[in-house]
Amino acid sequence: MINEQMYGLGDEPSAIRELFAYGLARKAEIGAENVFDFSIGNPSVPAPALVRDTLLELLEGDPVALHAYSPAAGLPEVREAIAGSIRARYGVPATAAHVYLTAGAAAALACSIAAVTRPGDEVIVVAPYFPEYRTWIEAAGCTVVEVPACEPSFQPDVEAIAAAIGERTSAVIINSPNNPVGAVYTRASLEALAGALTAKEEELGRPLYLISDEPYREITYGAEVPYVPAVYPRTIVCYSYSKSLSLPGERIGYVYVSDFADDGDEVAVAVAGAGRALGYVCAPVMLQRVAARCVNEPSDVAAYAANRRILTEGLAALGYEYVEPDGAFYLWVRALEEDAAAFSERAKDFELLIVPSDSFGVGGWVRLSYCIARDTIERSMPVFAALKQSYE
Ligand code: PLP
Repeated sequence: MINEQMYGLGDEPSAIRELFAYGLARKAEIGAENVFDFSIGNPSVPAPALVRDTLLELLEGDPVALHAYSPAAGLPEVREAIAGSIRARYGVPATAAHVYLTAGAAAALACSIAAVTRPGDEVIVVAPYFPEYRTWIEAAGCTVVEVPACEPSFQPDVEAIAAAIGERTSAVIINSPNNPVGAVYTRASLEALAGALTAKEEELGRPLYLISDEPYREITYGAEVPYVPAVYPRTIVCYSYSKSLSLPGERIGYVYVSDFADDGDEVAVAVAGAGRALGYVCAPVMLQRVAARCVNEPSDVAAYAANRRILTEGLAALGYEYVEPDGAFYLWVRALEEDAAAFSERAKDFELLIVPSDSFGVGGWVRLSYCIARDTIERSMPVFAALKQSYE
């Protein structure tokens, strides 16, 4: 007998990937230039030259040493390079023992959730949220508790989060800069959340963990992105180089367990244990070395900033309602009918691929990824106009 939960996951298509696959088929049919694909968050900016240079240099070395296993948690010098960068950039006392290299933020989140929960626990997420959170939470035998964000700011609703914390709550997941809405959580929001979690910890007499999912930390348009471990001690950072260095297919990222947490040493060991249990050991080793070399390499956000401006100005002129994004490369746009899935279907008739908000746990909106060619955005404006007109 197969595991029904796993069969269900394998069988159930993700709306985003399904739309992306539809787009590929449609492009083959009618030509790529005739499809306006805003479906997926694949960075459109090339990886920095230092990535290529490092890889070429690595390939000149001894192949046996180059491709050998690293320790499960990663190469010691890579963990130290990451800890050193965290210390230098955020002024917190990060140690290498608290850094665990993973295959992207996905593996980092799966390990972190498994490390701090027991079957039957609840994990709070802020809706709208990255759909895979549900997969990892439920795979750990836990239940998802959705707490809607404040509107229209899409900052976390701290009072509602505090009210949702109960006997079974073990962790809260936040994601700033946010996918799908582009919100960047302010220092005031994070401090309020930290205050509420600390008060609840005292009330419950046990720890509450804050899992901070940060693949977009570097992708911002001027907003401050406070370092969460400096605000709440029991923070577990899930970081990725997928977006910051445009390496999504290479699968490299890490977990960093805050050194401010009084149980941080034990949590770091539990993360390593979860990595072992889930088979996330020895993250891709060449990419570990690339990450260490590029640890302070700036992200190139100029193209995303330009796309953001063209898209928001264009849609504003057409009368679309959207959330002004402070970070990441997504635009959260109000659907022109209540049923976001029906709106996304109608958009397909115009060769416009936009993801309905139902995938992210809320109704009535769509997500547009603007990490795409600028020209596609420019040429899509008459198409957005025609889509809007079809409702008038
Ligand atoms: N978390 C969020 C919010 C994301 O948007 C993504 C990817 O798009 C991930 C996690 C997973 O990232 P990675 O490619 O590093 O596994």
